[in-house]
Amino acid sequence: MIISEDIDIIRNHIKSWKTHGEKIGFIPTMGNLHKGHISLISSLKQAGATKIVTSIFVNPTQFGINEDYAKYPRTLDSDEKKLSEHNVDLLFSPSTDIMYPKNPLSRLIIEYPEYSNILCGENRPTHFSGVLWVVNKLFNIINPDIAIFGQKDYQQYILIKNMVKDLFMPITIACSPIIRESDGLALSSRNQYLSKQERLIAPKLYESLKEAKISIDRKLKISDIENNGISFLRRNNFLVEYFSIRRSNDLKKFDNNQPFSRSIIILAAVKIGRTRLIDNILLT
Ligand code: AMP
Repeated sequence: MIISEDIDIIRNHIKSWKTHGEKIGFIPTMGNLHKGHISLISSLKQAGATKIVTSIFVNPTQFGINEDYAKYPRTLDSDEKKLSEHNVDLLFSPSTDIMYPKNPLSRLIIEYPEYSNILCGENRPTHFSGVLWVVNKLFNIINPDIAIFGQKDYQQYILIKNMVKDLFMPITIACSPIIRESDGLALSSRNQYLSKQERLIAPKLYESLKEAKISIDRKLKISDIENNGISFLRRNNFLVEYFSIRRSNDLKKFDNNQPFSRSIIILAAVKIGRTRLIDNILLT
C-alpha cells in the first residue's frame, strides 16, 4: 500500500493508474477504522473500482466548538495495518496544515439550506458545510471515478450526491449498508465513549427504528409512529435530538394525508450521557 501525505505524489500515482485504464474508487474516513469502514472496500469493488484509495483525516471544520474534535480517537498505525491487510492501494493521510494551509482560515461555504439545516444540521449548524468543504478538497486531490459513503451517515450521502450533481463533478457516488454489532448497535468510532451501562442501553436506538418500521408496515399515522419512537427512547434515558420518517430520495417530510410510498427512511439522533449516536433504517 502506498502511504503519503504529499498531494503531488498522490496525484502522480492516480494519474498513472488512470492512463492504464484503472477505475479509481475512493473512501474518505476520519480513521479509527472498524468493520463498518472496512465493508466499504468490498462495496466499492462491487461498484466497479479497480484501485482503492482511502483517506484518513480528522477534519476540524466539521466539528462544532463544543464537540469532540480534540478527543476524537486517532489510531493511524493500526488503521494503516488494517487497510494494508485489506489490499487497499493507496492511503492519503494528510496533516491539518496540508489540508488547510491558510491561517487564519478563509472559509469556503457551500450552502444547501434545504438539506444542511434539517435533522443533524439543526443541532450541528456548521457540520455539513465543513464536510462538503473537505470532501471537495479531497475530490480535487484524488480525482476518483467512484466515491463511497456509508448509509450510517445518510444525510451526508444525500448532500454529497447533490453537490456532485450540481457542480457537474464526473464522480459516481455510491452508498453502502450499515454494519452493526451482534446486538444491533451500528458500529461507530464514538461507541467507545460509552460507559458500560450506556453501552447496554445503546442498542435500543436500533430497536426503536425497527419498531417504527413495523408500524409503517401496519400503516399507522406517521406523527404517531414518530411520537412513539421518541417516547420509547426517552423512557430508556436517551436525550432525543430527532426521530423522523422522511422520503429517502430527498429527506423531505411526508404529508400526513399522503399515502406512503416505499422510498422511506427512518432516522434518529440521540445522546446517551455525552455521547451522540445516529442510526437509520431504509425501506425500499
Ligand atoms: P467516518 O470515519 O466516521 O467519517 O466514516 C467514514 C465512512 O464510513 C462514512 O462514509 C461513514 O458513513 C462510513 N461508516 C461509518 N460507520 C459505518 C458503519 N457502521 N457501517 C458502514 N459504514 C460506516
